[in-house]
Amino acid sequence: MTDRYAVFGHPIAHSKSPQIHAAFARQTGQDMRYEAILAPLDGFAVSVAAFIASGGRGANVTVPFKQEACRLADRLSPRARRAGAVNTLSFDAEGILGDNTDGAGLVADLTRNLLCPLAGKRILLLGAGGAARGVIEPLLDQQPAQLVIANRTVSRAQELAELFGRGVSACGFDAADAPFDVIVNATAASLAGELPPLSPQAFTSNTLAYDMMYGHDTPFLTFARAHGAAVTDGLGMLVEQAAEAFYGWRGVRPDTASVIAKLRI
Ligand code: NDP
Repeated sequence: MTDRYAVFGHPIAHSKSPQIHAAFARQTGQDMRYEAILAPLDGFAVSVAAFIASGGRGANVTVPFKQEACRLADRLSPRARRAGAVNTLSFDAEGILGDNTDGAGLVADLTRNLLCPLAGKRILLLGAGGAARGVIEPLLDQQPAQLVIANRTVSRAQELAELFGRGVSACGFDAADAPFDVIVNATAASLAGELPPLSPQAFTSNTLAYDMMYGHDTPFLTFARAHGAAVTDGLGMLVEQAAEAFYGWRGVRPDTASVIAKLRI
């Protein structure tokens, strides 16, 4: 019987995950089907339970359910526990396992696809929401020289800096005014077509500016480009986090480069 997987979100129609997982399944010869499910804002757990009852084997979780998915899981991977957010669920006889592959996806895209090693680098992470939380530990594992978290609500960045320790510091957007090697926009500002009030001094011609948002140019990428930085969107992260989830479910690593290239056409 064909194994069933899905992505749960609200909204969800825009999701590229069904396309990505279909490409992975074709490429690796896995007998599986992957669909997008719009869960009601107050009905995530019920939707997941119905999917499990109908034979679902696993699921991805996107906005706004990542923290609820964390609470729903019976067991958490260490990286999901540290992130406090879950983007991948696996269903088996022991219940629901929650994992978080966002950080692995970002690091794989930066280091493997964009050839940007992070060891010794000065990294500025913009935002302190679910996406930022998920990538802090994997970024720290790469041993950067510095990780600064800047957020609109500074106290949320401070909470994360205290939680993760190990040389992480926190500030407001405009206080991040020294040059950085890598600047990752993990705020939701791009979704609203807005630009956080960043200091131009954070950007140099050696800076890689990375917007987790994908699909079109954003005010952040335009600003970064205007101040000399190299820029990229988050499409590679999206495909890499999907590949990490696929590996967890199926035990096979798909080739991501061909899928990223196809989605860029
Ligand atoms: P959250 O809602 O959890 O967090 C939002 C963050 O953005 C908060 O830090 C918030 O600040 C900040 N923010 C919101 N609006 C603005 C604004 N107008 N100006 C400045 N800061 C703002 O969202 P997520 O963390 O889940 O997602 C963030 C982004 O990352 C989204 O665009 C999402 O699509 C993208 N993403 C991409 C992935 C990929 O694979 N490419 C994976 C995961 C996420 P405050 O604390 O002050 O409210």
